[in-house]
Amino acid sequence: MTLDRDAFYIDGRWAAPATSATLQVVSPHSEQVVATVPEGSAADVDAAVAAARRAFDEGPWPRMSPEERIEVVQAFSGLYAARLAEMADLITTEMGAPTSFSNLAQSPAPWMQIEAFLGIARAFPWEETRPGVLGPEVIVRREPVGVVAAIPPWNVPQFTTISKVVPALLAGNTVVVKPAPETPLDTYLMAELLEEAGVPAGVVNIVAAGREVGEHLVAHPGIDKVAFTGSTAAGRKIAAVCGEQLKRVSLELGGKSAAIVLDDADLAATMEGLKFVALMNSGQACVAQTRILASRANYDAVVEALAETVSGMVVGDPADPATEIGPMVAQRQQERVEKYIALGQEEGARLVVGGNGMPDGLDRGWYVRPTVFADVDNRMRIAQEEIFGPVLSVIAYDDVDDAVRIANDSDYGLAGTVWTGDPEAGLDVARRVRAGTYGVNTYTMDFAAPFGGFKASGIGREFGPEGLAQYTELKAIYPTAPAM
Ligand code: NAD
Repeated sequence: MTLDRDAFYIDGRWAAPATSATLQVVSPHSEQVVATVPEGSAADVDAAVAAARRAFDEGPWPRMSPEERIEVVQAFSGLYAARLAEMADLITTEMGAPTSFSNLAQSPAPWMQIEAFLGIARAFPWEETRPGVLGPEVIVRREPVGVVAAIPPWNVPQFTTISKVVPALLAGNTVVVKPAPETPLDTYLMAELLEEAGVPAGVVNIVAAGREVGEHLVAHPGIDKVAFTGSTAAGRKIAAVCGEQLKRVSLELGGKSAAIVLDDADLAATMEGLKFVALMNSGQACVAQTRILASRANYDAVVEALAETVSGMVVGDPADPATEIGPMVAQRQQERVEKYIALGQEEGARLVVGGNGMPDGLDRGWYVRPTVFADVDNRMRIAQEEIFGPVLSVIAYDDVDDAVRIANDSDYGLAGTVWTGDPEAGLDVARRVRAGTYGVNTYTMDFAAPFGGFKASGIGREFGPEGLAQYTELKAIYPTAPAM
């Protein structure tokens, strides 16, 4: 079955593109073209925004009750649940995530988000009445913001698309999604499911395109809010445009998270945990714990255990269920990671595992060797900059205060973990590290709770009632004249 497409989803139908430009989706494993889809132009974005604008200004969706919208999203959830394996496979095909990761985070996790948002929407205070100060009562309403531009990255494409589209829909907004050029395929399946669920025409529109067309979408006067996940560099540019135009904006950006290994941690369990939290999605994860902090007393033991763990990980074909590390999404990303591996050596870090060159047994595909650096100073660029690949740095600390200081010595503040035999000590560290999410002997994302970044890791939150609130405007109504 071909994965090729020749149209965009605009105004509830498959619309012919304005130009003949195409995007080639290339398997990072085989380096072969797996699909050709149209590449969006500014004209396609204009058509999508016009449809979303009409659907918001004149259509039924914003005027339906929250309960009516919940019903449609519930139908979408049911349809989505039936296609999880297909969605996971599509994402592994288009961006090379190991299938073990795809069947956990690339489609089941988005579906769990939908279910969580449905529960949150049912309990959400869409309209509440409060005792007033001047009059007997004030009505507080949460209304949709308007037309939302949703811009996801390629690394977890459905995860970051659903996190925007679903709360936007539940709150009564309309949406234009601009998938990353590397990962358009999953959004075609999503569009089919939205249509089948009964989402009205124009409420969700999808145009895959690159950065320049993304800039056109962000600056478009028909857009009321931008919801973006991607690099901090792009986030700064988008924030500047939204600031100038006073558009609502939420930004989920990069990270350089630290895993603090306390001396009382069970080392074997910690290593098992780090395999996932440091190297999930082949290291292409914003929350990856890429700085491993070990005490000077325990340093050699941690480096040795990590070296053994990482060198034993299975690297190869992402479609193989045994694979733990797959290829990088694109050749450009492979080159970027390799540059950082060379830089680490130039900066004086000690290469313990990995290094540049193809992993054993592979002769094509955009692979890099999972790499561990020891003797890393936190001021080195490999410890400060997001590499976005399977490259870990082990950094020594003197005591717990020093570990917290090093964890916080970063422009980023997205996530963190602490590994310890003492849960209370773990909670104490969790409270002191400036990051939006934190795990004690684990890292997870619970969609009941807000997710997002401190500092350069972003503005705003996704998930939880806080994530739904980002798609609403607050309105106060004074229903009676105050008694003067
Ligand atoms: P990117 O910033 O290059 O691109 C992200 C998306 O934005 C793509 O769709 C791209 O086409 C578009 N884009 C880029 N510049 C734009 C601009 N100026 N205006 C409008 N659209 C623009 O990032 P990427 O390489 O695709 O993804 C990797 C980055 O995403 C990493 O930095 C990672 O940490 C971050 N990320 C963050 C989270 C989070 O929740 N905090 C989650 C996943 C990924």
